[in-house]
Amino acid sequence: MFLPRALSALFAPARRVSKIRQINLDVIIFGGGVAGLWLLARLRKKGYSCVLLETDALGAGQTRYAQGIIHGGTKYALTGKVSEAAHTVAAMPSRWRACLSGEGELDLTTVKVLSEFQYMWSTSNLTSRMAGFFASKLMRSRTQQVPQQDYPALFKNPKFKGQVYQLDEPVLDVSTLLQALAQAQMDQILKVEMSELEFDTGDSVKGVRVHSIATDTIFEARKLILMAGKGNQAILKKLGQHTPTMQLRPLQMVAVRGEALSSIYAHCLGASANPRITITSHTDNKGQVVWYMGGQLAEEGVGRDSEAQVEAAKKELTRLFPWLDCSACEWLCLPVDRAEVKFKDGKRPDNVFAVENNNVITAWPTKLALSPVLADKVEALLEQDNVTPSHDEISESLGAFEHPQIASLPWQEETRWN
Ligand SMILES: Cc1cc2nc3c(=O)[nH]c(=O)nc-3n(C[C@H](O)[C@H](O)[C@H](O)COP(=O)(O)OP(=O)(O)OC[C@H]3O[C@@H](n4cnc5c(N)ncnc54)[C@H](O)[C@@H]3O)c2cc1C
Repeated sequence: MFLPRALSALFAPARRVSKIRQINLDVIIFGGGVAGLWLLARLRKKGYSCVLLETDALGAGQTRYAQGIIHGGTKYALTGKVSEAAHTVAAMPSRWRACLSGEGELDLTTVKVLSEFQYMWSTSNLTSRMAGFFASKLMRSRTQQVPQQDYPALFKNPKFKGQVYQLDEPVLDVSTLLQALAQAQMDQILKVEMSELEFDTGDSVKGVRVHSIATDTIFEARKLILMAGKGNQAILKKLGQHTPTMQLRPLQMVAVRGEALSSIYAHCLGASANPRITITSHTDNKGQVVWYMGGQLAEEGVGRDSEAQVEAAKKELTRLFPWLDCSACEWLCLPVDRAEVKFKDGKRPDNVFAVENNNVITAWPTKLALSPVLADKVEALLEQDNVTPSHDEISESLGAFEHPQIASLPWQEETRWN
């Protein structure tokens, strides 16, 4: 075991150095949401020695609230402009599908695919927004109009007057995704408390000390990678780093369950560049269908209390599906923050973000679907600094640590419905 005096001295020098274990690594990742887990799997496959430190359950931040849509660029193209980000996103469905079939960069063959595609529907005739959307060749090739006889059950009603399109956007079950990403790596995914973490600071950050009762360990690494979502801010503060700046954008999602509902995965086009509503379907812990709803409904619902937000959701579903009787359904509001980089010009990020400062890389994927692109970006930053895989095996030294659980999905927690 390596005990570098210089680093030990940086951490609480009054403590007895002899009790502190030291583990040398290529990389430490903070945060086991989809982004951190994806990166860990990729780096380990390449031979990097790394651990991932998690303060809660895996996916406990935003990931467990995600709808699981592997976006193909639709949202971006709704503005009528196909940006560089839209091209990046457009590549995601095929990149993920390769993983789902066992031929991609990671093995996601055990992930449950809830739907092979998303639908998009317009409430009446084609709007100008739809015209802009179809003007883009990129989107035209990925979207097809669904003949009326093939409409999903929900739209097979004489009162439905809109058009239905099929988009190349698979929808995944986030719980099995987290399991698939974490399973093979669990030996190097460690549960820690934020209060136990003592960071090395200064011009060249070298590591972190996990100062717990069960184990007192200094992890020294060539790079620290912050992928703790909303938690990045607190780590940056402990490190004394003022950049990059993070912003939170809240949402108030709504879940509804009941016998009236059949599974649907669909965006409804409205007047704005955002879908009016995006519905994905899941099951609660009794196997009942749950609609999980975002889009404008969730954006505009931020200022409302939960009662008002449920009322707004009920009204919206009545307007969209007047033939659907949801009177016996149960409703649930799920407020959640999106965490992302804050740009000085106020622009919202539409792509991944990663930047390095004093050996610390701070990153946000912006979208679950973009996790592979974020891993590419972080790998490029490592290579740029000649941080190459050491191929060191470290799992034997980690026996004293506990491993985190995988977060449950919010609508599967029965107490939330009461
Ligand atoms: C309602 C909603 C729906 C969404 N739907 C989709 C969708 O359908 N498709 C899509 O592509 N994207 C979607 N997104 C975006 C997507 O969920 C996020 O971009 C993605 O999950 C972020 O993953 P992450 O790993 O960066 O962060 P998180 O999932 O927040 O993970 C961060 C992890 O870090 C841990 N942590 C916190 N502090 C610390 C610390 N100090 N040390 C160590 N660990 C720490 C947390 O416990 C957590 O496990 C959605 C977002 C929301 C809010």
